[in-house]
Amino acid sequence: MSDFVAPEGPSVFKRIIDGEIPSEVLFQDDLCFVIADINPSAPTHLLLIPKQEIPRLVDASEEHKSLLGHMMLVAGDIARKFGIQDAFRLVINNGEGAGQTVFHLHMHIMGNKKFNEADLGN
Ligand code: AMP
Repeated sequence: MSDFVAPEGPSVFKRIIDGEIPSEVLFQDDLCFVIADINPSAPTHLLLIPKQEIPRLVDASEEHKSLLGHMMLVAGDIARKFGIQDAFRLVINNGEGAGQTVFHLHMHIMGNKKFNEADLGN
């Protein structure tokens, strides 16, 4: 794990995990959970969040390899479950400069949107 220090205290996702902030959990298993993004950028905009705290993708290391692989498979399962398996985008913002606002690693799963080939953002 890197020595990156998140800009604030416990992240909103950690507070959801700890039950301090209510949130409708759409899926969960031992390692991760899915909620709807509160400020959606697509008609279907879900967040896939590991229960383990990793601030940014770049802070992940060898020990997180199976967790990250697991999340990729869950992302596919969730896309199927929500009927967006033929057109969805998986986005990880890493660092403030890339638009990361919550420093607890998460994947955006976005679908039901007309994607612009040139726009790799959300
Ligand atoms: P990022 O900008 O990549 O760090 O993504 C953080 C995302 O978390 C944003 O799209 C926010 O809309 C979303 N978000 C923040 N607070 C909540 C919350 N309480 N429930 C659901 N989504 C949230």
